[in-house]
Amino acid sequence: MQVCTTCIYDERIPGISFDENGVCNYCHQAEQLDREYPTGDEGMAYLKNLSQEIKKTSRNKKYDVVVGVSGGCDSSYLLHVTKNILGLRPLAVHFDNTWNSKIAVENLYRVTQKLDIDLYTHVVDNKEYNAIFKSFFKASVPEIDTPADIGLAATHYLAAQKFGIKYIFDGHSFRNEGISPPGWFYMDAKYIQGIFNKFGSGKIKTLPNLWLATWLKWTILNRIKKIRPLYYIKYDKSEVKEFLKKEFDWQWYGGHHMENRTAYFTNNYYLPEKFNIDLRFCEYSANIRSGTMTREEALEQIAQPKPFDTGILEEIKKRLSFTDEEFASIMVQDKKTFMDYQTYKPTFERLRWMFKIMADMDLVPKSFYLKYTRPYSQDDMRYVTNAPQLPFKTEVREEVSAAVT
Ligand SMILES: [Zn+2]
Repeated sequence: MQVCTTCIYDERIPGISFDENGVCNYCHQAEQLDREYPTGDEGMAYLKNLSQEIKKTSRNKKYDVVVGVSGGCDSSYLLHVTKNILGLRPLAVHFDNTWNSKIAVENLYRVTQKLDIDLYTHVVDNKEYNAIFKSFFKASVPEIDTPADIGLAATHYLAAQKFGIKYIFDGHSFRNEGISPPGWFYMDAKYIQGIFNKFGSGKIKTLPNLWLATWLKWTILNRIKKIRPLYYIKYDKSEVKEFLKKEFDWQWYGGHHMENRTAYFTNNYYLPEKFNIDLRFCEYSANIRSGTMTREEALEQIAQPKPFDTGILEEIKKRLSFTDEEFASIMVQDKKTFMDYQTYKPTFERLRWMFKIMADMDLVPKSFYLKYTRPYSQDDMRYVTNAPQLPFKTEVREEVSAAVT
């Protein structure tokens, strides 16, 4: 099996190709992003300049910017950067899908209180959320955690609109999280509604959805811009964690995506067990490219099974009213992808020219333009539905991790 000579992506990663030196196309993409988003003094100069622009839009307002927060490491750090380094007045905005981990919630309160930042939270109705979540299991697609991702993206815009804020800061960073290949993750409003109509029952009332028309109104008409400031800052995550602990009494919850139980279940159990998808490939490869992990360390760690707590599995079954038999049959059901359902993807592809202009104007993230408007083929999806087995299995343990519950 061919493995990239720089990162740990191998032949099993969808859409992969290698150059004559054995370096994969994702490493080349990351290099290009690295050049486009400078860090250090140049990155900071960009952010300071941007902050001046932002202040002009919020002179008579209470807040300058919405900052999306989860209680996790990156978004907590982003709050500190926004207020203490850039001198902006942020409104912290959180979407609660009712599956938050206790530590993440405590972190949210600790960081916002210490920084004296208002926290705006939207809580979805738990029965409604569970019904939507369950319909994604029945649809047999990888993106069972997508309703939470859409809910949080829509909540950021709703809060911005409510308070007349023109900028949204999002804590994503390609240097920390990497670049996910096509088919591992897709989200849009039509996808959620379509799957819920087919496999759920009742109405979606409290989950904010990101309908295309509403989204275009917010971006084009209201000029709400979405920025990823961490693209311009290079930082070592372990140093940031130490800083957050010292400064805010912030606690580490034990792993990437573990601030929320549906995210934890999806990434540590559902995706590797059912789809042979392990997001550690993205995370570790990103760490190697950023120089915070060696390739040898990554190869060694990826060979270790992912730990997973049975307590969470039991909670999922109980809250979604799955019998053991139903749940077992869902795990072996034929795999589907978003291409088997109604989505906005064909519309995004048709409007590629428009999203290019919007990306150049910072109205949508560049990564959205690159990933969502590029035509996909069924061949890209072949990797998802016929993925070869991973060399390891999830290690289900008896004890319930205190970090996640
Ligand atoms: Zn690579």
